[in-house]
Amino acid sequence: MNGPLLKTSLPGPKAKAIIERDAKVVSSSYTRDYPLVIARGEGAFVEDVDGNVFLDCTAGIAVASTGHSHPKVVQAITDQAQKFLHMSGTDFYYEPQVRLGEELSAIAPMKGPHRSFFANSGTEANEAALKLARYTTKRQAIIAFLGAFHGRSMGSLSVTASKVTQRRGFGPFVPGVYHAPYADCYRCPLKLSPDSCAAECLRFIDEELLVHLVAPDEVAAIIVEPIQGEGGYIVPPDVFHQRLRDLTRQHGMLLIVDEIQSGMGRTGRMFAIEHTGVEPDVVTMAKGIASGLPLGVATAPAATMAWPPGTHASTFGGNPVACAAAIATIALIRESLMVNAATVGAHMIAGVKTLMGKHRLVGDVRGRGLMIGLELVRDRETKERATTERDALVRECFKRGLLVLGAGRNAVRLTPPLVFTKEQADQAVEILDQALDAVPDR
Ligand code: PLP
Repeated sequence: MNGPLLKTSLPGPKAKAIIERDAKVVSSSYTRDYPLVIARGEGAFVEDVDGNVFLDCTAGIAVASTGHSHPKVVQAITDQAQKFLHMSGTDFYYEPQVRLGEELSAIAPMKGPHRSFFANSGTEANEAALKLARYTTKRQAIIAFLGAFHGRSMGSLSVTASKVTQRRGFGPFVPGVYHAPYADCYRCPLKLSPDSCAAECLRFIDEELLVHLVAPDEVAAIIVEPIQGEGGYIVPPDVFHQRLRDLTRQHGMLLIVDEIQSGMGRTGRMFAIEHTGVEPDVVTMAKGIASGLPLGVATAPAATMAWPPGTHASTFGGNPVACAAAIATIALIRESLMVNAATVGAHMIAGVKTLMGKHRLVGDVRGRGLMIGLELVRDRETKERATTERDALVRECFKRGLLVLGAGRNAVRLTPPLVFTKEQADQAVEILDQALDAVPDR
């Protein structure tokens, strides 16, 4: 498959018909930014039901890590599906789950031996981590960050502080959750520069939260994204995570690192936290781990994950087909895709940065590997958020055959599959350039 190649107006007639059916039967809670109805995918391309081909810089929200339908992943899925589809790893044993546990132990960003808890999604992986933290420390409170996204089930939603729409109408939330400011250096409230600042925003935890609101020995864990994803692709300085590690150690809190969006080779390391030298107590994974099959995991040192039988489990968690897909995915990432993400990512970030010289709307470009964000502003001095312009840019890209998604209030994220080539990166930058030209100034 090659492209982009647009044969019809968008949406085409077949896409239109499916969208009309969808509107009658599918939950109205989903957010679809543009009318893409996919028929098949291959590598970094997807074809819609009308035969239009798009270059994919979303990977289905950072999930299709090995590209769409990578033959080795499809083969692993098929082989396992022909043997058995399910037996529930909570009550029985099967080798693919054990093997995946071993593979995860080999890549985990902290010293082993490790154990892994298997779930079906990111939110469940975080639920497991939060429950583990409370169980292990016998403490209740959790500290999370403003702008964080950790999922939408009740525990994960309670630590999520991304968009108010995700919370409105769903409270009361799990008690004992406190939110602190994340290190968004582009919008530093203290007007400091990342080069000379030692993550002063963390003083809020030390000097406010733990003084006025909650005693340190009541806090079970701090949960943090190494790079905020849904919050707007915000890359904090390494010292932010290093100080968090010191703080959690000092007070006996667990440090839970949510690598659901940033993990699995996307940033050029297996886990984004590895860029900072920090070893967390628990790491959570989902999205790219199984190239598209539903799987969530919480991995921790065996001494931390020592809860007895019956304390936590999930019927489908660690499904054998999903485990087989994950084993194949991890092998591909380790063989070449992580290195590719680093090389093509650096090339792509440099390309996207050139757009700042041409388009005043692009206020900031940041990222690591193939986790790249552009923040759009109406004025580079005031940094007024260009939200409607961002939405327009996402649509203009779609009209030109490039799939991108928004993040936060005014950022665009680029998360192509890790098989992305430099040529495809150049193509994406060129389309972004044209699409930016088409976004009306306010
Ligand atoms: N954590 C992070 C960092 C995420 O980006 C997401 C999803 O976007 C989640 C958790 C939740 O994952 P899921 O949608 O699989 O429940």
